[in-house]
Amino acid sequence: MATRTIDLVNLVPARGLAGRDAPSDEIINACVRCGFCLNSCPTFLETGIETSSPRGRIYLMKAVAEGRLAPDSPGFAGQMYECLGCLACEAVCPSGVQYGKILEPARDQVERRIRRPLGQRLVRAASFKVLFADMRLFRLQSGLFRAYQRSGAQWLARRSGALRALGLDRAEGFLPRMSGRFFVPRGRSTRRRGRGGRGWRSSPAAS
Ligand code: SF4
Ligand code: SF4
Repeated sequence: MATRTIDLVNLVPARGLAGRDAPSDEIINACVRCGFCLNSCPTFLETGIETSSPRGRIYLMKAVAEGRLAPDSPGFAGQMYECLGCLACEAVCPSGVQYGKILEPARDQVERRIRRPLGQRLVRAASFKVLFADMRLFRLQSGLFRAYQRSGAQWLARRSGALRALGLDRAEGFLPRMSGRFFVPRGRSTRRRGRGGRGWRSSPAAS
């Protein structure tokens, strides 16, 4: 009879941190709450709210680590994603708090607990597991977006109201202007993982 092994470390408890890659207590506790980072943090400067600051976010992580706050609480999840990840706070921290090393693990704690709507899950899976995993697909997509922007299709889609009718107007507004050099570094090559490790060489960039 087959036996199932249970990964106790990665079990998701109701509270507290889970998993081998949970934010490090050592880094969290290195914050002495001096506040030197506050004026470097764009989200704090914009909101003036303590929990929107590096110090506040580290405190929230500490509260989650100690089981005083649920990782899927809106306050924690919202702040982990409101953070821009710019690491301006890390550069000025006199205690050397390695904020960048706890931010992504903290976001992972959120993702372990929340269940996103089906549409979001599909888009995230397609993006992270398919598109970003294959540079050829990513470049193909970039080329299609570029053609959309330069062929007049974007102008037409916006003017006709089609984007609004499809509920895509807001998302489409985030699309950056695609340049011919987008992710096509001139004269550089890279090697894809898997599939025998066959490499590809980037083509000369078009302007
Ligand atoms: S500067 Fe560093 S030690 Fe001071 S509050 Fe900010 S993160 Fe904490
Ligand atoms: S990474 Fe940037 S946005 Fe996030 S807490 Fe640090 S300074 Fe603020």
